[in-house]
Amino acid sequence: MPTLTLPKILVIGAAGQIGVELTLALRAKYGAENVIASDISAEPELLKSTGPWETIDVLSAMQLQRQVIRAGVTQIYLLAAMLSARGETDPRTAWDLNMDALMNVLEISRELHLQVFWPSSIAAASPSTIYGISKFSGEYLCQYYHAKFGLDVRSLRYPGLISYKTKPGGGTTDYAVDIFHAAIDKKVYECFLKADTLLPMMYMNDAVRATLMLMDTTEEKITNRRSYDISGMSFTPKELFEKIKAFCPSFEIVYEPDHRQKIAESWPETVDDVLARTDWNWKPSWNLCTMVNDMLVKLDEQQMQNRIQKLEMIGEL
Ligand code: NAD
Repeated sequence: MPTLTLPKILVIGAAGQIGVELTLALRAKYGAENVIASDISAEPELLKSTGPWETIDVLSAMQLQRQVIRAGVTQIYLLAAMLSARGETDPRTAWDLNMDALMNVLEISRELHLQVFWPSSIAAASPSTIYGISKFSGEYLCQYYHAKFGLDVRSLRYPGLISYKTKPGGGTTDYAVDIFHAAIDKKVYECFLKADTLLPMMYMNDAVRATLMLMDTTEEKITNRRSYDISGMSFTPKELFEKIKAFCPSFEIVYEPDHRQKIAESWPETVDDVLARTDWNWKPSWNLCTMVNDMLVKLDEQQMQNRIQKLEMIGEL
């Protein structure tokens, strides 16, 4: 019987909104010791004692190379990036981080024949921000490295991601996470998008599952080497608010659109993911109702746990 060789994985940007959950899922699937989490930020509490951690600045090709060779890495998941809204405050830094990080990873992966996962975004569909332009260019760079060097690099265009474990890092769809924290904290939510702004979104569980599915697919089935569109659900701030209010009747919202409104309006409202469905059987599991229900339950549990921890720390329990 052939022995199954497990990949040795390096996750870059593991302290971020996706990084924490993807690292935990990869560790569950491939074994903790086979998944090295890394970031320039400190190790998040949720990852502590769950597997190896390294501080790596992906902009240093030397640091990256040292770690890859030392640990015998065979797969890289590159998540470090500056997102859409933050990118607009410092376009030069956003471009340098988003493109140089990808270039460094593609180069080392070409030299050492590694497999790469790199996420794009719905922002690449109509690039109107430096973030969208970097994702659009990055998609072509991935396609180029595959065509020219045969590099096995794979990509997904994530919609706006909704999660409870880690807060989002400066995107235009962050409202869809912030609103839950306001509801749980019993505060009026000041929404930075207009009530009727329709955008594609996805629950983190689906985003992580899609990533694992794509990376599990045999090479010959991958027909898209730029980036696969994947859909979860589309909703407006008003629709999301009404679903939350059904559980939290005193919850209120005010709409104060800011510069992020213009970014949101340049993005698609829905996503056609027929290729992902055909090539690797993609199908989302979560919809608006099930996602809202789960978010509220999980955030409530989290709040209760935080309270217990605080009481334990001051010796009241
Ligand atoms: P995030 O901002 O939460 O996390 C990014 C992480 O990268 C942070 O922990 C940060 O410390 C780290 N980082 C920054 N510079 C670094 C460097 N030089 N070296 C090493 N690490 C560095 O982002 P996220 O939401 O987890 O997004 C991950 C990826 O998914 C990004 O490429 C993003 O564009 C893409 N994406 C995210 C969403 C979303 O809704 N969150 C949607 C579409 C695409």
